[in-house]
Amino acid sequence: MSHSLQALDRAHHLHPFTDFKALGEEGSRIIERAEGVYIHDAEGNRLLDGMAGLWCVNLGYGRVELVTAATEQMRRLPYYNNFFKTTHPPAVRLAEKLCALAPAHLNHVFFTGSGSEANDTVLRMVRRYWTLKGKPEKHWVIGRENGYHGSTVAGMSLGGMAPMHDQGGPCVPGITHVRQPYWFGEGRFGDVRDQDPEAFGRQCAAAIEEKILELGEETVAAFIAEPVQGAGGAIMPPASYWPAVKEVLSRYDILLVVDEVICGFGRLGEWFGSVHYDLAPDLMPIAKGLSSGYLPIGGVLVGDRVADTLIQEGGEFFHGFTYSGHPVCAAVALKNLELMEAEGVVERVRDELGPYLARRWATLADHPLVGEARSLGLMGALELIDPASGERFDKALAAGNLCRDISFRRGLVMRSVGDTMIIAPPLVITREQIDDLVTLAREALDETARCLV
Ligand code: PLP
Repeated sequence: MSHSLQALDRAHHLHPFTDFKALGEEGSRIIERAEGVYIHDAEGNRLLDGMAGLWCVNLGYGRVELVTAATEQMRRLPYYNNFFKTTHPPAVRLAEKLCALAPAHLNHVFFTGSGSEANDTVLRMVRRYWTLKGKPEKHWVIGRENGYHGSTVAGMSLGGMAPMHDQGGPCVPGITHVRQPYWFGEGRFGDVRDQDPEAFGRQCAAAIEEKILELGEETVAAFIAEPVQGAGGAIMPPASYWPAVKEVLSRYDILLVVDEVICGFGRLGEWFGSVHYDLAPDLMPIAKGLSSGYLPIGGVLVGDRVADTLIQEGGEFFHGFTYSGHPVCAAVALKNLELMEAEGVVERVRDELGPYLARRWATLADHPLVGEARSLGLMGALELIDPASGERFDKALAAGNLCRDISFRRGLVMRSVGDTMIIAPPLVITREQIDDLVTLAREALDETARCLV
C-alpha cells in the first residue's frame, strides 16, 4: 500500500522545498495519522513531532473541538467572502479576538490564506501608506539576510534566502537586506570573532542605519524581521539587538514590520514575540499557529498609525484573496485561540515548559558534536561542529541532513538548516515528552558522530 502510494507520489507530485529528482530516487515518507505530539507513518512507526508540523500545530494533533468547529461552520456557511462590504460572523469574531490578544495599538486585521500572502499584503500596505502620507519616495523595504517571509514573489523578495533569490529571477524592486544577528554563525565562525555577542548585536543594528544612509534617509519605508529567525536556524538575537533596532527606526521614521508567523501564538512564551522583545510593530503578519495549522489562514495585524491612514485617506484598497477570512478557517482559528486561552497554553510555555526545555536542552551542550545549544520558549537549536577541529564540518558531509535523517529513523522529527538542528514541538508537550525528545536528540547526535568522526 505505502509502496504504491510512493510510486504515485513520485509520478505526479512535486513537493515544496524538495529536490524532485532525489525524492524520486529515495521515495517519500508517508504520514498517515497523528495524535497529541505524535505522528504515525505508513510503515507503522510513531514519531515525536519535534517540529509541530511546520512550526504550526501549537495545540497538538487530534483536537476534536477544532474538528467540531470546522464541521459546524461547514454546515452553516461553508464559504462566503469579505469583499465588497460583506462579511460573516467567524471573520468578525476572529478579528475581535485577535485585536484583543495583540498589543493595544493593533486594532485591525486583514485576513489572508497564508503567511506568504500576509507578507505580500504587508508590502502593498507599507507602500500605500507612504504614498497616502505624500511621501512616495519612501519605498525601500529593508529585510535581513537569511530571513524568511514566504515563497510568493514578494515573500521571497522580502526574505533574505540567497538560494531562493538565485532561483526566482529578478526579485521585487525596492527591497534590500542587511546582516542577520546570528552570533554563532557570523560571530563565532565569521568575521567578527573578537567581539562579544552584545557588541555584535549592536553592530547588526548599526548595519540598518548604514543601509538607511546608503539608500537615502528619505527613501526608506519599512524594516521587516522575525523576532527570532525561524527557518533561518532558530536564531535568537543578542539582547542588545532589538532595543538598538527600535532606536534607529524611530530616528528615521521607518515602519516596523514584525513577522510573527512562527513566533506568534505562544511559541516564545507570549502571545506574540513582539511582547517578549517589547516591540511595537506597525504591521504584524501572522499565520501557522493561528489555527494550529488545522486549516490555512493568515493575516496582517495593523497598528493604528497605518490603519487610520488607510481607513481615513485610502479609499478602496485594491487587494484581497478569495479565501481572505474564509469562514471555516476563521471558525477553527477562533476556537483554537479560545482553547489556548482557556487552557493557559501560552502561560504554561512561559512559566513552566520553556524554562524546563531550556534546562534539559542545555544538557546537550556537552556533546562533542554540539558547539551551542540554545532555546527560547519552545524553540531550540543545536549547532553542529566537528569535534576534531572545533570548526564546522565540511559542507560536503551534509552533517545536519544526516543527523535529521538519523533522528527521524529513531523516532524524533528534528529539522536541519545547514548544520543547525532545530526543534519547535507542539505547545502541549509534557515534561516527560520533553525528556524523551532530549534523549532521542542525544541518541541521534551519538549515531551521527559514529558516522562522521
Ligand atoms: N513568515 C515566516 C516567518 C515563516 O516562517 C513563514 C513560513 O514558514 C512564512 C512567513 C510563510 O508562511 P506560509 O508558508 O504560510 O506562506
